[in-house]
Amino acid sequence: MPIYLKKEEVESTVHKAILSKRSMGLVPTMGSLHHGHLSLIEKANKENDIVWVSIFINPTQFNDPNDLSRYPKNLEKDYGLIKNICEKIKIFSPNEKEIYGKTPTLQKYDFKKIDVELEGKHRKNHFNGVATIVSKLLTLIKPNKVYFGEKDYQQTQIIKKLICLENINVNMIICPTVREKNGLALSSRNNFLSNIDRGNSSIIYKSLNLLKSNFINSNLKSLRKNIINDINKKKNFKVEYLEIANAETLQIDEKINPKKQYRAFICVRVNEVRLIDNILLN
Ligand code: AMP
Repeated sequence: MPIYLKKEEVESTVHKAILSKRSMGLVPTMGSLHHGHLSLIEKANKENDIVWVSIFINPTQFNDPNDLSRYPKNLEKDYGLIKNICEKIKIFSPNEKEIYGKTPTLQKYDFKKIDVELEGKHRKNHFNGVATIVSKLLTLIKPNKVYFGEKDYQQTQIIKKLICLENINVNMIICPTVREKNGLALSSRNNFLSNIDRGNSSIIYKSLNLLKSNFINSNLKSLRKNIINDINKKKNFKVEYLEIANAETLQIDEKINPKKQYRAFICVRVNEVRLIDNILLN
């Protein structure tokens, strides 16, 4: 059975683990677990003596109250899924008070603009909220390694900066995106899609691959425009953004510098469900 711990119990368990020099890995999640999350947990399981999985829908990273209120919650199911992986896993699924006290408050950071591009442009303060909760979890659990998914690539760059800014002693491990057979990146939000929309969503990863295979030689501007048009032609689909950005700065460079790495980032709204994905281009 995985053990669910309250905040004080987490503190004492962490203390004992540090004294006995047992290594700890942390997988922060918002629950409604799927095989993407499980791949992170399995990796952490291989690399650490103790694995912490936090399950917390963090209010400060939602700019849209409707998005927050309808975010899927499946705590019992999540416990069951984790139970099937391993017994050494410890779950921390705190309530808001345990994390924030009376009122959830957002910490603001200077992320050198990477927080205001792409997702940050469409979700104001989202990354300050993400950094606030991750900082709290890292301070509480003090893991040796913390695991994140490449699906949220911009988030991984934010956490990298956060670790530097706060001088936190932790090793960040980035794990590959787990996808459905048709290429759609697994996400807790996928459960909101109808079967037809879910099938049509294969166009997202196909489009990213199209950009990748044409990255060097093509007229990217017109290719990007055509891709957006093709996606928008699908019923219920609307591209929120499709950008090619410097993988380190996340800025949209006017000219491609062949010495730098670039990624394509996409967000498509399918009905009201936001689907994001990204791919390394070179
Ligand atoms: P979330 O619960 O959506 O906040 O995600 C928790 C962690 O799981 C984050 O580090 C995500 O990047 C990661 N994750 C979510 N979906 C996937 C996926 N399809 N493949 C790999 N990692 C994922």
